[in-house]
Amino acid sequence: MAGLADFNVAEKPQWCPGCGDHIILMGLKQALAELDKEPHETVVVSGIGCGSKLPHYIRTYGYEGIHGRLLPLAEGIKLANHKLTVVAVGGDGDGLSEGTNHFIHAVRRNNDVNYFVQDNFIYALTTGQVSPTTPKGRKTKTTLNGSYLEPLHPTAVALAAGATFVAATFAGDLMHMKTVMKKAIEHKGFAFVDIYQPCVTWNKNYSYDWYKERVYDLQKENHDTSDWKAAMDKAMEPYRTKYEKLPIGIFYQTDKNAAFYENLHPFADGPLVKQSFKRDLSKDFEQLM
Ligand code: SF4
Repeated sequence: MAGLADFNVAEKPQWCPGCGDHIILMGLKQALAELDKEPHETVVVSGIGCGSKLPHYIRTYGYEGIHGRLLPLAEGIKLANHKLTVVAVGGDGDGLSEGTNHFIHAVRRNNDVNYFVQDNFIYALTTGQVSPTTPKGRKTKTTLNGSYLEPLHPTAVALAAGATFVAATFAGDLMHMKTVMKKAIEHKGFAFVDIYQPCVTWNKNYSYDWYKERVYDLQKENHDTSDWKAAMDKAMEPYRTKYEKLPIGIFYQTDKNAAFYENLHPFADGPLVKQSFKRDLSKDFEQLM
């Protein structure tokens, strides 16, 4: 059985000191270890961005893909071998800009992939440009007079697309983040977690203290995670309150929709990579003609 140390690698993370990604990495390692996951049965996939270096710093299988395309990779891996634990990690600029179409359709398919967004409200790797989640009015290198667009609301988008698990957490609270990650990984179906991740270099206005004054735990407020409307109300609270209240925890969870592989008969015989394909496909092709 693997322990926490089994997920360690010799390579030291290259993130800035104090970056929230260090804590996200630790939270993911702890979550996997505490769920008794084995490194050789786990795959961490990323896109492009500061946080997308994460697969280099954890001893699992890993793949750093291209910008915004981490979910097709993660889903492809899960389809090939649905017995693997597959985690996709990437930033808001990566997954909620170019990646938004993949995000919405991954939600619809309900493939059993865990998508953790390192949401720091900015393009950090490229040194501080406006991102899809940058709050309106915030000055960045590309919005010198302040962002004039309403931000994309990640948890609300996930809920509207029909997600079966939607949560948020904060990289300044390791215990909370690890707990939410574990619940997401245990969930059968697509699990989306928006992680508030302070970027201490390019987004100094949103410091750990700024978040700590605003986050509160939904699970301490008797929030009903089976109530979609209540979840959507909480998902919109940051924007309604101009970021004065940031709910974290599980917004919504349901098991009423089957995970993707449960809908398709080829998966009933086990992971595709372990099946010997003796099936005569000619009849399948005839139907398509
Ligand atoms: S630039 Fe920001 S997001 Fe990137 S490593 Fe530094 S603190 Fe982290």
